Amino acid sequence: MANDHVAIDGPTSSGKTTNAQLLAAQSGHLYLDTGAMYRSVAYLALKNGVDLDNEAGLVAMLRHHTIAIVPDASTTAGYRVNIDGRYTGERLFDPDVAAAVSTVAARPAIRTELVERQRAIAAQGPVVMAGRDIGTVVLPDARFKFFLTASLDERARRRHAEFQARGIDVSLDEVRAQLAERDRLDSTRAISPLRAAADAVTIDSTDMKPAEVVARMRAVMEAARA
Ligand code: C5P
Repeated sequence: MANDHVAIDGPTSSGKTTNAQLLAAQSGHLYLDTGAMYRSVAYLALKNGVDLDNEAGLVAMLRHHTIAIVPDASTTAGYRVNIDGRYTGERLFDPDVAAAVSTVAARPAIRTELVERQRAIAAQGPVVMAGRDIGTVVLPDARFKFFLTASLDERARRRHAEFQARGIDVSLDEVRAQLAERDRLDSTRAISPLRAAADAVTIDSTDMKPAEVVARMRAVMEAARA
């Protein structure tokens, strides 16, 4: 087998970040959350006043900035995103960035640029890579592929709890509506829509704890290696 990569795709707040991070820590793989890259583009567009519909402007903007994803177990996400060498903190997870990200992620030129960066990282060694199109487009030859899901209500509850912990005042209904809209945009876009790869193992985490999800994944991986 040529590689040992793990691709984890799934909708917003399906547990990709937590589980991918745990799995990577246990298996010694590098962990890469590709959503952070798309969020960085949305954040930079808002900061620089670049219209979300201006694809050429977004790509030109991106070429002027460095986005570095640095593993850091002391953060909630398990990594730090440094833009132009400066740590962005929790800013990438704010509601305004969340509302803009699916629009920039639907731009083909942005995806081409970021997919190239994602493959370059995977070329350095085994990765657990989380996103929407990892098993289908970014790493179609990944040895292991998982598609994580959970009910919309459960995902909204998780995301709402995260906002509350950060003191962000937004109602559960608003969070649910925003997630549903992001799922709709991500699943219906023309390029690299959110979907499970034909050879992915689907895990519904609605009633599962992260440790159980990771144990399921590891069991699948061990069975394949045996
Ligand atoms: O995973 P996360 O919720 O942080 O991703 C934010 C957004 O980035 C998604 O809603 C989606 O629009 C976009 N994304 C993507 N392809 C990926 C990862 C994220 O289009 N591989």
